[in-house]
Amino acid sequence: MKDAPTLAEAVAEVGREMAAHRGEGRVADYIPALARVDPNRFGLAVITVDGETAEFGDAWVPFSIQSISKVFTLALALERVGEGLWTRVGREPSGSRFNSIVQLEAEGGVPRNPFINAGAIVTTDAVLDSRTPEVAIAEIRDFLRRLSGVETIDIDAEVARSEAETGFRNASLANFLRAFGNLKSPVADVLETYFSQCAIRITCRQLARAGLFLAREGLDPLNGARVLSPEHARRINAIMMTCGHYDASGEFAFQVGLPGKSGVGGGILTIVPDRAAVAVWSPGLNEVGNSQVGTLALERLAAKMGWSVF
Ligand code: GLU
Repeated sequence: MKDAPTLAEAVAEVGREMAAHRGEGRVADYIPALARVDPNRFGLAVITVDGETAEFGDAWVPFSIQSISKVFTLALALERVGEGLWTRVGREPSGSRFNSIVQLEAEGGVPRNPFINAGAIVTTDAVLDSRTPEVAIAEIRDFLRRLSGVETIDIDAEVARSEAETGFRNASLANFLRAFGNLKSPVADVLETYFSQCAIRITCRQLARAGLFLAREGLDPLNGARVLSPEHARRINAIMMTCGHYDASGEFAFQVGLPGKSGVGGGILTIVPDRAAVAVWSPGLNEVGNSQVGTLALERLAAKMGWSVF
């Protein structure tokens, strides 16, 4: 029988296997600034709780974090308002598109979970907490800087502007939430904060490092810093598992078997509890809005490494 590959071998094998798939999927074009990204990009980065790293391809090329930011905003919102957050947002998979407005109407303005757009707009409002957008945006950006140890992580102003100019659906969701009394700050402030957090530029390497605390119940295993309580970290992993891939979260759990969160920039952050954090980036999306090649790469990597929470 063939020996199990080392992490470095598995990452290199997956990277090579993905060569035949490069460019698959469709780059998100509803945000004009994202439509210009080269679909052939592919990056993969793993960092283990012992500090071992393995990378492939464009692991050091920044991309738009988009909805993966929702993981970090949820962490900040939970620390800021605690369990009270759950009166404003649920934790059930939505079974609808990430920007659905119908469900919000039917369910009285309480979004299904913090990872669909409506839910993330509520968690962003919780982080904003009646402060100015500048303060909240800096807090979210600095959280990622601190977690990754990279002081240059920043917001791509062009992407943020592009979203603000075309984000009519998100504006509708925010107005709707406000009408239901589920936003405290002015709609314009919440949207500015939300669009800015989605427009953060980050590399696979930085993202994997930033997410590593979720592999150790909220404790950064490499510097010993307590980022989040174990309870909150566990809950974020649970929601990543059940709601992290839009309407294909069940499929991701079935195929990959790990908590993960995708974004329309083509990135996916995946947590291997007690082992590692993995970030992958390939801009082409499948019909549900998840990175097509990124998902395949994670499936292959998890299989080769024997990683699964099940
Ligand atoms: N900024 C994007 C939006 O609100 C995020 C979508 C996503 O990555 O799922 O439409």
